Amino acid sequence: MNEHYDVLIVGSGAGGSAAAYSLAHVGRRVLLLEKGRELPRDGSTLDVDKVIRQGFFKSKEHWLDRNGQTFEPEEYFNLGGKTKWYGAALARFEPHEFEAEPAHQCLPWPISYRELEPYYEQAETLLNVHQFKPEPDLQAIVGKLTCNGAGWNARPLTLALDSNIVEHPEEAAHFDAFASVKNLKADGQRALLERVQQLPNLTVLTGQAVRDFIADPERPERLIGVRAEDGGEFRADRVLLAAGALHSPRLLQGYLEITGLTDRLPCANAVGRNYKSHLLSAVLAFSATLKTDLLRKTLLLLNDRLPHSSIQPLGFDGELLSTLIPGFVPRGFARALGHRAYGFFLQTEDGSDPANRVVAQTNGARYPQLDYDPARLPAAREEHRRLVRDFNRALLKIGLPAAAKGIPLAGTAHACGTLVAGHDPRTSVVDADGKVHGLDNLYVVDGSVLPRSSRVNPSLTIYAWALRVAERLQQRRSSV
Ligand SMILES: Cc1cc2nc3c(=O)[nH]c(=O)nc-3n(C[C@H](O)[C@H](O)[C@H](O)COP(=O)(O)OP(=O)(O)OC[C@H]3O[C@@H](n4cnc5c(N)ncnc54)[C@H](O)[C@@H]3O)c2cc1C
Repeated sequence: MNEHYDVLIVGSGAGGSAAAYSLAHVGRRVLLLEKGRELPRDGSTLDVDKVIRQGFFKSKEHWLDRNGQTFEPEEYFNLGGKTKWYGAALARFEPHEFEAEPAHQCLPWPISYRELEPYYEQAETLLNVHQFKPEPDLQAIVGKLTCNGAGWNARPLTLALDSNIVEHPEEAAHFDAFASVKNLKADGQRALLERVQQLPNLTVLTGQAVRDFIADPERPERLIGVRAEDGGEFRADRVLLAAGALHSPRLLQGYLEITGLTDRLPCANAVGRNYKSHLLSAVLAFSATLKTDLLRKTLLLLNDRLPHSSIQPLGFDGELLSTLIPGFVPRGFARALGHRAYGFFLQTEDGSDPANRVVAQTNGARYPQLDYDPARLPAAREEHRRLVRDFNRALLKIGLPAAAKGIPLAGTAHACGTLVAGHDPRTSVVDADGKVHGLDNLYVVDGSVLPRSSRVNPSLTIYAWALRVAERLQQRRSSV
């Protein structure tokens, strides 16, 4: 392909879609390359059997864990990336969560909350983020939880869902881990790419997996484009990496090795390190009565004694909750239990340890590796243990016996941190503007950059970071 672009973006999830929107909107010639295809609109993305039981839409990529065992991470390769499947809980990080906290192994951001604030606002507007009224079953549970003296308090959880979604029960009960057919969830494709898709200066190519970057023959610190798996080449002045925290570091590792920059760039040693994905558990609280709330995921529960943790209801109805009940329980009984259950998602910020990392498939290795061990993060592990214990006790106290299940390594929904942002090129990979230290024109706009992942879900912060990087690129260009 001969055309030359101002900016080439690799990946169309939260970061890629936000950067594409911002740069196309101001007239830059943008090429977005996405490995996956557009999802079907035939209803199959709401089909519980296909989506949950068969895992039909998940990536089938094999990875190795730190012990060399294979597993398939919960990744999605499609236009819009994981945002098509996300639970749409879009919350800001707190100002203090941009600062270092050594006792919890948390790295500092190179920018403050204030610097990201205008982009949080922009993202919230673009994605129409708003609150929903808590439904009766949740109100009853949370009412009892918050007045039993154990320190739990509730605040509204802001969602990127259409206000009328409750008039479409099939969608309202299936937005968390499903892709909307009627466009009732604001995801990267729907809320950002579709706004600019008619512009002649934006080209989106799906089914185009980027294999590697092309170096300037005179100077490997400068990229001149990328090469796709099928050998096709694409040229641009700048490349924005947005393939997600499991995939972006592999592309960069490969490039640094091939060009010999691994030995010359101080940041090379940090590439792929500091993987984080929150310590996560699902809790099912059982009652004697049927639970009929539709959305469920409308409140966030916090506790001052557990400052790095939060709890949100799972947006799962009875049928879905029954899929979380172990297979040895007869299915009819599991369904009956599911319809009387309320699900919760417990998350604790996992700090950073350089040994928790993504290792690209180099040196003839069969698969890439995700070497992650929560034992390297003792403070986070201990807080998560207390979170699960205290929440189960609080539920029992209000008459809801509960069962908890830890989310395993394959639960990469919140993957982040593998191309961490920071000022020091020896310990971080990108600078405060998202540019890779030591490279002229490679930027990172996905969840890989997050130095801290906070106690809430990451997408709003990834959208905001990408909007900020894109705007600063634009300013830099205007001032030349
Ligand atoms: C079931 C589920 C529920 C979730 N719920 C929430 C929630 O409620 N709130 C929240 O904030 N977050 C939630 N998340 C997490 C959220 O979806 C991610 O944090 C976010 O999508 C990450 O954005 P990203 O841009 O880093 O990567 P992604 O969204 O993963 O996008 C990366 C894109 O790059 C593409 N790609 C990969 N490799 C290549 C390549 N070589 N060439 C070209 N393209 C490539 C992929 O196909 C993908 O489209 C959830 C995730 C899941 C799976």
